[in-house]
Amino acid sequence: MIIFDNHMHLRRDGRYLDAVKEFIKAGGTHFVLCQYPMTQKVIEHKSYEPIFQETLKMAEEIQKNMDVTVYTTVGPYPVDYLKLIDVLGREETIDLMKKGMDQAAHLCEEGHCIAIGEIGRPHFPVDPQVMEDADQILSYGMKRAAEVDTAVVLHTETTTIAQCEQLVHMGEKVGLASDRIVKHFAPPLIYQEENFGLIPSVLASRKNIEEAAFKGTRFMMETDYIDDPRRPGAVLSPKTVPKRTFELLNNNHLSEDELGIIHQENPEKTYHISME
Ligand SMILES: [Zn+2]
Repeated sequence: MIIFDNHMHLRRDGRYLDAVKEFIKAGGTHFVLCQYPMTQKVIEHKSYEPIFQETLKMAEEIQKNMDVTVYTTVGPYPVDYLKLIDVLGREETIDLMKKGMDQAAHLCEEGHCIAIGEIGRPHFPVDPQVMEDADQILSYGMKRAAEVDTAVVLHTETTTIAQCEQLVHMGEKVGLASDRIVKHFAPPLIYQEENFGLIPSVLASRKNIEEAAFKGTRFMMETDYIDDPRRPGAVLSPKTVPKRTFELLNNNHLSEDELGIIHQENPEKTYHISME
């Protein structure tokens, strides 16, 4: 049985391979390694390329040593903007982050990554100017994703129905289909009239997943594990997605076929991958 975590971060100075072991031991088989924010390194190199390469190297290392399938997404983390402007100024920051979109798009085109992400907007209140710039950079990233026929993984302020509509509209304007837009850290907004066709990656708390499963199967599950030694087990621990999945199965909330839609069919369609 395929069990897929759609959003995990790993750090070499965190639990790293031990965290993957925990995921596998609980029944996990596939996961997305999402670019960890490394703002200081971006500033140092004035480029995203070195941190993207580092993430790809980690994925390769995991893939080589462990019985698990790792997919990678890379992209300029939206919150970087707030630190970059202090050092580079506004224009150069926007340029650098757009260039990061280009580099990420290129890695997708070459088959090294399955999506550009996580990209989007800061998740806390910011000045209107910051939001405007974030939207400009995001829209550019969506355009690049459409051009190289890849997906995007979005990090934003709290997900609402109105926001989903806006994000889908933003994609539409630059030619990116709604089913190529993944909303990371989503609540169970499963219905078309709630998400306007984007793919919710639902944070795997018990409450969220039970509600999502009650409503349907068009979603993915994630832990947003951040592998931060100062916040052990945050946001959710690596074993959570397998654990929730077996709970749904054992409580007869969902059948194995329905779970197959969530863990295999949805990621395969969204990212254009084959998981067998
Ligand atoms: Zn994340």
